Amino acid sequence: MFSVAIDGPSGAGKSSVSKAVAKAAGFVHVDTGALYRALAFTSIKNSVDISNADAVNEMLTNTKLSLKLDADGQKVLINGEDVTGQLRTEQVSMAASNISKIPAVRAFLLDTQRKTAEEMNVIMDGRDIATVVLPNADVKVFLTASPEKRAERRYKELLAKNEEVEYNKILEDVIKRDRQDMEREIAPLRPSEDSVIVDTSEMSFDESVEAITRLIKERM
Ligand code: C5P
Repeated sequence: MFSVAIDGPSGAGKSSVSKAVAKAAGFVHVDTGALYRALAFTSIKNSVDISNADAVNEMLTNTKLSLKLDADGQKVLINGEDVTGQLRTEQVSMAASNISKIPAVRAFLLDTQRKTAEEMNVIMDGRDIATVVLPNADVKVFLTASPEKRAERRYKELLAKNEEVEYNKILEDVIKRDRQDMEREIAPLRPSEDSVIVDTSEMSFDESVEAITRLIKERM
Protein backbone atom coordinates (compact mmCIF):
# COMPACT_ATOMS: atom_id res chain seq x y z
CA MET A 1 0.00 0.00 0.00
CA PHE A 2 1.07 3.58 -0.64
CA SER A 3 0.48 6.16 2.06
CA VAL A 4 0.71 9.92 2.20
CA ALA A 5 0.87 11.74 5.55
CA ILE A 6 -0.31 15.35 5.67
CA ASP A 7 0.21 17.09 9.00
CA GLY A 8 -0.12 20.70 10.00
CA PRO A 9 -1.98 23.25 12.10
CA SER A 10 -5.71 23.95 11.85
CA GLY A 11 -6.87 25.84 8.80
CA ALA A 12 -3.78 25.20 6.66
CA GLY A 13 -6.05 23.53 4.12
CA LYS A 14 -5.06 19.96 4.96
CA SER A 15 -8.54 18.53 4.59
CA SER A 16 -9.66 20.23 1.39
CA VAL A 17 -6.26 19.88 -0.30
CA SER A 18 -6.00 16.22 0.73
CA LYS A 19 -9.48 15.53 -0.59
CA ALA A 20 -8.61 16.97 -4.01
CA VAL A 21 -5.25 15.19 -4.16
CA ALA A 22 -6.92 11.90 -3.18
CA LYS A 23 -9.48 12.27 -5.93
CA ALA A 24 -6.82 12.97 -8.57
CA ALA A 25 -4.56 10.15 -7.40
CA GLY A 26 -7.32 7.59 -6.80
CA PHE A 27 -6.47 7.36 -3.11
CA VAL A 28 -8.79 7.39 -0.11
CA HIS A 29 -8.74 10.52 2.02
CA VAL A 30 -8.78 9.96 5.78
CA ASP A 31 -9.42 13.04 7.92
CA THR A 32 -8.20 11.97 11.38
CA GLY A 33 -9.27 15.25 13.00
CA ALA A 34 -12.84 14.02 12.55
CA LEU A 35 -12.10 11.06 14.83
CA TYR A 36 -10.96 13.37 17.66
CA ARG A 37 -13.92 15.61 16.91
CA ALA A 38 -16.33 12.66 17.12
CA LEU A 39 -15.05 11.75 20.58
CA ALA A 40 -15.19 15.41 21.62
CA PHE A 41 -18.76 15.62 20.36
CA THR A 42 -19.66 12.47 22.32
CA SER A 43 -18.15 13.91 25.49
CA ILE A 44 -20.16 17.12 25.12
CA LYS A 45 -23.37 15.25 24.33
CA ASN A 46 -23.01 13.01 27.39
CA SER A 47 -21.61 15.75 29.67
CA VAL A 48 -18.43 13.77 30.30
CA ASP A 49 -15.91 15.62 32.45
CA ILE A 50 -12.75 15.17 30.37
CA SER A 51 -10.49 16.18 33.25
CA ASN A 52 -11.63 12.98 34.97
CA ALA A 53 -9.63 10.02 33.63
CA ASP A 54 -12.14 7.44 34.88
CA ALA A 55 -15.02 9.22 33.20
CA VAL A 56 -13.08 9.37 29.91
CA ASN A 57 -12.18 5.68 30.13
CA GLU A 58 -15.78 4.79 30.78
CA MET A 59 -16.83 6.81 27.75
CA LEU A 60 -14.24 5.02 25.57
CA THR A 61 -15.42 1.63 26.81
CA ASN A 62 -18.98 2.50 25.84
CA THR A 63 -18.09 4.00 22.48
CA LYS A 64 -17.92 2.06 19.25
CA LEU A 65 -16.37 4.29 16.64
CA SER A 66 -16.29 3.37 13.00
CA LEU A 67 -15.08 5.05 9.89
CA LYS A 68 -16.96 4.66 6.61
CA LEU A 69 -14.99 5.52 3.51
CA ASP A 70 -16.77 5.58 0.19
CA ALA A 71 -17.21 7.71 -2.93
CA ASP A 72 -19.22 10.32 -0.96
CA GLY A 73 -16.26 10.85 1.35
CA GLN A 74 -15.72 9.97 4.96
CA LYS A 75 -18.37 9.35 7.56
CA VAL A 76 -17.80 8.84 11.27
CA LEU A 77 -20.24 6.67 13.18
CA ILE A 78 -20.53 6.61 16.95
CA ASN A 79 -22.44 3.57 18.18
CA GLY A 80 -23.97 3.29 14.73
CA GLU A 81 -25.08 6.93 14.50
CA ASP A 82 -23.61 9.10 11.74
CA VAL A 83 -22.28 12.21 13.53
CA THR A 84 -20.28 13.63 10.59
CA GLY A 85 -22.49 16.69 10.11
CA GLN A 86 -22.12 17.78 13.72
CA LEU A 87 -18.36 17.94 14.02
CA ARG A 88 -17.25 21.20 12.48
CA THR A 89 -18.34 23.82 15.01
CA GLU A 90 -15.98 26.00 17.04
CA GLN A 91 -17.19 24.35 20.26
CA VAL A 92 -16.28 20.89 18.96
CA SER A 93 -12.93 22.20 17.57
CA MET A 94 -11.76 23.40 20.95
CA ALA A 95 -13.11 20.31 22.73
CA ALA A 96 -11.25 18.11 20.20
CA SER A 97 -7.99 19.91 20.93
CA ASN A 98 -8.61 19.40 24.67
CA ILE A 99 -9.55 15.74 24.44
CA SER A 100 -6.68 14.93 22.06
CA LYS A 101 -4.19 15.58 24.90
CA ILE A 102 -5.40 12.47 26.72
CA PRO A 103 -3.15 9.43 26.09
CA ALA A 104 -6.05 6.95 26.36
CA VAL A 105 -7.92 8.85 23.66
CA ARG A 106 -4.93 8.80 21.28
CA ALA A 107 -4.36 5.09 21.94
CA PHE A 108 -8.06 4.39 21.30
CA LEU A 109 -7.85 5.97 17.83
CA LEU A 110 -4.46 4.62 16.75
CA ASP A 111 -5.66 1.19 15.65
CA THR A 112 -8.43 2.53 13.40
CA GLN A 113 -5.96 4.85 11.67
CA ARG A 114 -3.23 2.24 11.14
CA LYS A 115 -5.63 -0.50 9.99
CA THR A 116 -7.14 1.83 7.41
CA ALA A 117 -3.71 2.55 5.95
CA GLU A 118 -2.93 -1.18 5.81
CA GLU A 119 -6.05 -1.86 3.78
CA MET A 120 -5.95 0.90 1.17
CA ASN A 121 -3.87 3.61 -0.43
CA VAL A 122 -4.48 6.62 1.76
CA ILE A 123 -3.86 10.31 2.12
CA MET A 124 -4.23 10.73 5.84
CA ASP A 125 -4.32 14.19 7.37
CA GLY A 126 -3.82 15.13 11.01
CA ARG A 127 -1.20 16.33 13.48
CA ASP A 128 0.94 13.26 14.17
CA ILE A 129 0.55 11.10 11.07
CA ALA A 130 4.20 11.29 9.96
CA THR A 131 5.59 11.24 13.50
CA VAL A 132 3.41 8.58 15.18
CA VAL A 133 0.63 6.97 13.16
CA LEU A 134 2.42 6.18 9.89
CA PRO A 135 6.16 6.72 10.48
CA ASN A 136 6.84 4.73 7.30
CA ALA A 137 4.55 6.77 5.06
CA ASP A 138 5.83 7.07 1.48
CA VAL A 139 5.26 10.83 1.32
CA LYS A 140 5.24 13.15 4.32
CA VAL A 141 4.08 16.72 4.04
CA PHE A 142 3.81 19.42 6.70
CA LEU A 143 1.21 21.82 5.34
CA THR A 144 1.17 25.20 7.01
CA ALA A 145 0.25 28.89 6.57
CA SER A 146 0.34 32.03 8.70
CA PRO A 147 -2.19 32.16 11.60
CA GLU A 148 -3.91 35.17 9.95
CA LYS A 149 -4.41 33.35 6.65
CA ARG A 150 -5.68 30.28 8.43
CA ALA A 151 -8.11 32.28 10.55
CA GLU A 152 -9.35 34.04 7.40
CA ARG A 153 -10.03 30.71 5.68
CA ARG A 154 -11.84 29.28 8.71
CA TYR A 155 -13.85 32.51 9.02
CA LYS A 156 -15.04 32.27 5.41
CA GLU A 157 -15.83 28.57 5.80
CA LEU A 158 -18.01 29.25 8.85
CA LEU A 159 -19.69 32.28 7.26
CA ALA A 160 -20.61 30.13 4.27
CA LYS A 161 -22.39 27.82 6.70
CA ASN A 162 -24.26 30.79 8.20
CA GLU A 163 -22.56 30.41 11.54
CA GLU A 164 -22.32 33.62 13.53
CA VAL A 165 -18.62 34.36 13.76
CA GLU A 166 -16.14 37.10 14.52
CA TYR A 167 -12.76 37.13 12.78
CA ASN A 168 -10.81 38.17 15.88
CA LYS A 169 -12.33 35.39 17.94
CA ILE A 170 -11.42 32.84 15.25
CA LEU A 171 -7.83 34.15 15.12
CA GLU A 172 -7.62 33.90 18.89
CA ASP A 173 -8.93 30.31 18.76
CA VAL A 174 -6.50 29.38 15.96
CA ILE A 175 -3.54 30.66 17.96
CA LYS A 176 -4.74 29.01 21.16
CA ARG A 177 -5.40 25.67 19.45
CA ASP A 178 -1.96 25.76 17.71
CA ARG A 179 -0.27 26.36 21.03
CA GLN A 180 -2.19 23.52 22.69
CA ASP A 181 -1.43 21.14 19.84
CA MET A 182 2.28 22.06 19.71
CA GLU A 183 2.93 22.13 23.41
CA ARG A 184 1.19 18.97 24.51
CA GLU A 185 3.39 16.17 25.83
CA ILE A 186 2.01 13.34 23.76
CA ALA A 187 2.24 13.40 19.94
CA PRO A 188 2.73 17.18 19.68
CA LEU A 189 2.21 18.90 16.36
CA ARG A 190 5.59 19.17 14.63
CA PRO A 191 7.08 18.22 11.28
CA SER A 192 8.98 14.92 11.23
CA GLU A 193 12.62 15.18 10.15
CA ASP A 194 11.80 13.79 6.73
CA SER A 195 8.67 15.90 6.08
CA VAL A 196 8.53 18.35 3.21
CA ILE A 197 7.27 21.70 4.51
CA VAL A 198 4.71 23.36 2.24
CA ASP A 199 3.64 26.90 3.25
CA THR A 200 0.34 27.75 1.55
CA SER A 201 0.06 31.38 2.81
CA GLU A 202 0.70 32.76 -0.67
CA MET A 203 -0.48 29.74 -2.63
CA SER A 204 -3.84 29.22 -4.27
CA PHE A 205 -5.80 26.07 -3.59
CA ASP A 206 -4.86 24.62 -7.00
CA GLU A 207 -1.18 25.39 -6.44
CA SER A 208 -1.27 23.55 -3.10
CA VAL A 209 -2.91 20.53 -4.73
CA GLU A 210 -0.32 20.57 -7.53
CA ALA A 211 2.61 20.80 -5.11
CA ILE A 212 1.51 17.68 -3.23
CA THR A 213 0.53 15.76 -6.35
CA ARG A 214 4.04 16.43 -7.69
CA LEU A 215 5.62 15.03 -4.50
CA ILE A 216 3.53 11.88 -4.79
CA LYS A 217 4.47 11.37 -8.45
CA GLU A 218 8.15 11.76 -7.59
CA ARG A 219 7.99 9.02 -4.94
CA MET A 220 5.72 6.55 -6.74
O1 C5P B 1 -7.80 18.73 12.01
P1 C5P B 1 -8.91 19.17 12.93
O2 C5P B 1 -8.96 20.64 13.13
O3 C5P B 1 -10.23 18.60 12.53
O4 C5P B 1 -8.54 18.49 14.34
C1 C5P B 1 -9.21 18.82 15.53
C2 C5P B 1 -8.27 18.63 16.71
O5 C5P B 1 -7.98 17.23 16.86
C3 C5P B 1 -6.90 19.30 16.57
O6 C5P B 1 -6.87 20.60 17.10
C4 C5P B 1 -5.97 18.38 17.33
O7 C5P B 1 -5.88 18.74 18.69
C5 C5P B 1 -6.63 17.04 17.26
N1 C5P B 1 -5.96 16.14 16.34
C6 C5P B 1 -4.86 15.44 16.81
N2 C5P B 1 -4.23 14.52 16.02
C7 C5P B 1 -4.67 14.29 14.77
C8 C5P B 1 -5.77 15.02 14.25
C9 C5P B 1 -6.39 15.94 15.07
O8 C5P B 1 -4.45 15.63 17.94
N3 C5P B 1 -4.05 13.37 14.02
